[in-house]
Amino acid sequence: MTRNWKGVIETLSDACRARRLLWAFCLACGHAHRVDPRKVMLLAGELTLRDLQKRLKCERCRQKRGHVLPHDEEWDGR
Ligand SMILES: [Zn+2]
Repeated sequence: MTRNWKGVIETLSDACRARRLLWAFCLACGHAHRVDPRKVMLLAGELTLRDLQKRLKCERCRQKRGHVLPHDEEWDGR
């Protein structure tokens, strides 16, 4: 268990180690949804959050103005 993670979360594997979901926001329309870093890694491999952000396209307004932040809380132990 890596509770009380203090490191900086810069990549998907950092987020996995810290057990954090990610928030993907759209700066164009305000749409936000949670992203599971484990699922993204299965699909896309290791990425920095910055690279992930560049790839995101909003489901609602179709613009590429995503912003990615780590969630504050750990995901449930599953
Ligand atoms: Zn949008």
